Amino acid sequence: MGCEVSAASVPPKRHLCDLRMGDLALELAGLGLAEKKARYHAKQIFNWVYQRKVTDFEAMTDLSKLVRSHLKENFDLTPLGKVFEQKSVDGTQKFLFQLSDGKTIESVLIPAQDRLTICISSQVGCAMGCKFCNTASQGLMRNLEVHEITRQVLELSRVANITNIVYMGMGEPLHNFENVCRSVEILLSQEGLNFSKRKITISTSGLVPQIRKMNERLVGPNRVNLAISLNGSYDSQRESVMPINRAFPIEELMQACRDFELEPHRRITFEYVMLGGLNDNLEDAERVMKLVEGIPSKINLIPYNPHPASPYDRPKEEKVEAFHRYLLDRNVSAMIRHSRGRDILAACGQLKSKFDEVVSVAQ
Ligand code: SF4
Repeated sequence: MGCEVSAASVPPKRHLCDLRMGDLALELAGLGLAEKKARYHAKQIFNWVYQRKVTDFEAMTDLSKLVRSHLKENFDLTPLGKVFEQKSVDGTQKFLFQLSDGKTIESVLIPAQDRLTICISSQVGCAMGCKFCNTASQGLMRNLEVHEITRQVLELSRVANITNIVYMGMGEPLHNFENVCRSVEILLSQEGLNFSKRKITISTSGLVPQIRKMNERLVGPNRVNLAISLNGSYDSQRESVMPINRAFPIEELMQACRDFELEPHRRITFEYVMLGGLNDNLEDAERVMKLVEGIPSKINLIPYNPHPASPYDRPKEEKVEAFHRYLLDRNVSAMIRHSRGRDILAACGQLKSKFDEVVSVAQ
């Protein structure tokens, strides 16, 4: 009998950006390094990858040869493949990245006066089926790995001075719970990209058990902001646009928000996409006001951006104004957020990989 080893039996290398600082220190301790030394090297490596942004282990010149060759043999450090980028007339930039299995995801850079926000994806496609959302029509293809989340930020931080991160791109972040939590820990790490926890927001369609889990899991230095995609003021209305509401009705969702422990001066953001003629009446405004009563919160009113596959209309400007005024007059913190990047389908609810179209246009 032959004893052939096929190329397929060699496991693919793990990407280094999958590892938190503690994971990396453990990995190095496995080489026989003392704990303190392993932690020191882990810090050095984080510094090389996230601050000096090198993409070659050989460039990490202050590491011992043993550590460098171990990393080289066992880990991958290739950058995320950027295949396409588009810039909107308002300065918003959309990037399409291709993953190692050929699937594609999108990230968006949104400039504002005093900040530059990156909106990142957490899944390829999404299972939540929100009716106003372009990504929903893809269904869920798979969860992103930790490194596929962190590298969206790392790649774009090479070319832009990013100040804020929102998990609001493709996918439901809390449906990929553990990988999203780990990516947050890496992005917050002082030796990593060193973001402040106040500058990172995880947005959810309302997965109540995972909101409660996040309350337990991301604590202390890892307590990032929570945003809820509300989009409806009563159950049957919300259900008609967000099927997840059947599993977790509004009352349960609001209770989970009330139970979510907020640090002083922190608030939960409620995103409210205003759909013309559906959820944009003053009766809706009154119900929304009552729903958030007692929760330190702010409400973002987002006039809907129609896209090709959606049945909804943009709300009339005067209805948006009246809704906003109703809330302000009753001391409810609310803002109208006009989505950015409408001309390049980078606005809220419009993300969907366009790789096939992009490739066919490019050919
Ligand atoms: S809005 Fe978010 S949660 Fe809903 S389908 Fe789209 S990507 Fe998924």
